[in-house]
Amino acid sequence: MTAKTSHDGTLYVVATPIGNLEEISPRAINVLQSVDVIACEDTRHTKKLLTHLGISKPLTSYYREKEQQKAKKLLQGLQDGKKIAIVSDAGTPGISDPGAVLVNMARKAGIPIVPISGPSALITALSIAGLGDSQFFFAGFPPAKKKARRTFFKQLSPLPWPIIFYESPHRIEQSLKDCLLCMGDRQGILFRELTKIHEECRQGALSALHTSCAGKNRGEFVVLIKPAPQDNTDKPEDLDDLILWYRNRPDMTLKDAVHRIAADLDLPRTRIYQRALILWKK
Ligand code: SAM
Repeated sequence: MTAKTSHDGTLYVVATPIGNLEEISPRAINVLQSVDVIACEDTRHTKKLLTHLGISKPLTSYYREKEQQKAKKLLQGLQDGKKIAIVSDAGTPGISDPGAVLVNMARKAGIPIVPISGPSALITALSIAGLGDSQFFFAGFPPAKKKARRTFFKQLSPLPWPIIFYESPHRIEQSLKDCLLCMGDRQGILFRELTKIHEECRQGALSALHTSCAGKNRGEFVVLIKPAPQDNTDKPEDLDDLILWYRNRPDMTLKDAVHRIAADLDLPRTRIYQRALILWKK
């Protein structure tokens, strides 16, 4: 780590609204008012928010394609003693959004990094998902290409937790279709336009959610897929018996079984895999 000098500035990572412009904290407003410069994905987009807040500040663009290059420049500013805020178009920077490169550089350089917490589509969706204390798995955005997307869903399929992911309006229909294909007709929740006028939350089987989206796919989406229901009544606790039990489940692959057994018995996957290879074909 590089030693911090007395001239060093501060990096503020500021969450902004995901829709409703009233959802910004007084602390976030204070920080945006007090920094020297605001780094943002799309300057026009952030300008609208700042105009709404009555804030006038120099803006500089910081977006995915130029993240490395821009981060270096911003780091120089921080080392020269500037106070810099980074925001994304919506929600919390660094969550499926640019931010990580600058954060990592600043941390390595010993620059103070202050999170200004606030909205995130992930947490907003979860707050009305009714999961209670259960764990979840956040998968970010599914890949854009069909083959990679199907592999992605197949890999997620055996997870024993609800899976939550982001999707854009032009890919939501295709993603739900691939999800259905790779995971079966599970229960899910589709969150659309959270905190906005046309906010919606639809719960149902994936097939129904997919149909409901056809031709009605405008807006921003968060998708939650519940784990496959399991009939655990006769589920054995011994490794060999459990491998054979999973082998007899419809549509269960060896790989999926290994993942599930690892979660069931808290054993390393390599050990289960070696044993399953022997038993699976018996
Ligand atoms: N960093 C952001 C956050 O913390 O939520 C996420 C940025 S990511 C590039 C944008 C995606 O977030 C959208 O494609 C959508 O999946 C989700 N999203 C953002 N705003 C949303 C909203 N109001 N309703 C539903 N989903 C939203």
